[in-house]
Amino acid sequence: MRVSILGGGLAGCEAAWRLAKEGLKVTLYEMRPFKMTPAHRTDKLGELVCSNTLGSTELTSGAGLLKAEMNLLGSLVMEAAKHAAVPAGSALGVDREIFADYITHALEQEPLIEIVRKEVDRIPEEGIVIVATGPLTSEKLAKHIRELVGYDLLYFYDAVSPIVEADSVDFSKGFWGSRYGKGGDDYFNCVLTEEDYKKFYEELLRGQKVELKDFEKEIYFEGCLPVEELARRGFRTLLFGPMKPVGLKDPKTGKQPFAVLQLRKENREGTLLSLVGFQTRLTYGEQKRIFRLIPCLKNATFVRLGSMHRNTFIQSNRVLTPFLNLRKKESVFFAGQIIGVEGYTASAATGILAGINASRFVKGKPLTVPPAETMLGALIHYVTSKEGELQPMNPVFGLLPPLEEKIKDKRKRKELMALRALDKMKEWIENVLNE
Ligand SMILES: Cc1cc2nc3c(=O)[nH]c(=O)nc-3n(C[C@H](O)[C@H](O)[C@H](O)COP(=O)(O)OP(=O)(O)OC[C@H]3O[C@@H](n4cnc5c(N)ncnc54)[C@H](O)[C@@H]3O)c2cc1C
Repeated sequence: MRVSILGGGLAGCEAAWRLAKEGLKVTLYEMRPFKMTPAHRTDKLGELVCSNTLGSTELTSGAGLLKAEMNLLGSLVMEAAKHAAVPAGSALGVDREIFADYITHALEQEPLIEIVRKEVDRIPEEGIVIVATGPLTSEKLAKHIRELVGYDLLYFYDAVSPIVEADSVDFSKGFWGSRYGKGGDDYFNCVLTEEDYKKFYEELLRGQKVELKDFEKEIYFEGCLPVEELARRGFRTLLFGPMKPVGLKDPKTGKQPFAVLQLRKENREGTLLSLVGFQTRLTYGEQKRIFRLIPCLKNATFVRLGSMHRNTFIQSNRVLTPFLNLRKKESVFFAGQIIGVEGYTASAATGILAGINASRFVKGKPLTVPPAETMLGALIHYVTSKEGELQPMNPVFGLLPPLEEKIKDKRKRKELMALRALDKMKEWIENVLNE
């Protein structure tokens, strides 16, 4: 049985490599060079569209831990990155030409992989398919996927609000509670006095923004505007939007605060909190500087910063199984940024898992997912099971279950979590994959 993979980006290439290593025949469809995305520049497989770094290699960073797990899984992208490495401090910088050439060559030389250069506009009806067409999936295919998964369940833009570590929030400067007392203690309300708000508002107006790319000009739509754009519309606009205090009473004063920012739990353990309705195009540095002016967030540790991009992705939490195939059509798998993960490393890693599971599907073996203590397992768990709306997520430590023992020192805690993750990944490889 031949597996079809749509998209020769980071995820598609990893999936193809894995399937070939499992002895399966693969057809890898890539539309470039006949049809280019607005960001790709070459016909190479595994092209990096922007920065030439794959992020940190330190085990105490989410992306670094994920890389170590990918090495254990025999990742082609990691192999190419080592081959193409350039000095970049603790980050994994690569020469992008050498990197993509290595991947292209490896796949072209692999007898079980056939590479077909054409735009695919529908998911093939028959056979096993992995869809890995990325954030810039061509229009026709995106339309077809939307019809398949449900009109509301494929997004064309992301609108990411920042996420902070709960233990870095000053809970003495706000209170738990939902608007009009509905919904229990689902939200933490960061209180701002008029003076706090004024200072915050003025800096928001001054904040430096990331420029929109030409193909992103139509990104703004009412109901999903960046906070700085709302601020630009007037001093009080935010007070009728994401910072509205109505329906909330501060138990300390018995009064409605002047303004609030609501934080909502991002995971079941409540270790991560997102800033509700705070999608933004401020630069990362400016987000940290300006959002820390909100008293509760003075010492906040941001694990994800806000962004708004052109990004095609599905609501995996509503359409995929935990094994990355469609709930309503089990022979169709998804991988890469299109499943709601963020960045080169995470996209590639999910390609490996889709390859593993597509291969198990063909061989009639039960589908599988790495343990929740691993970064890959935790990320997949997040995107396939998040409650409510899914916005793209990157690999961060806050997704991992806490250690049984409480460790105060943050670095030590992360080191132990990383060692636990690698042990669990090795066990999974030995007991499940190599069984
Ligand atoms: C402008 C921009 C800048 C970015 N900058 C960064 C960055 O600096 N760092 C970072 O970590 N991440 C960045 N990203 C995100 C990054 O692109 C992804 O994380 C990563 O490339 C996703 O891998 P993927 O395999 O899912 O998709 P891609 O790498 O995009 O691969 C998808 C492939 O599918 C092909 N394709 C699309 N539609 C079809 C079709 N219908 N038929 C056949 N082939 C098709 C495309 O040509 C492409 O080769 C950026 C994204 C964009 C859009």
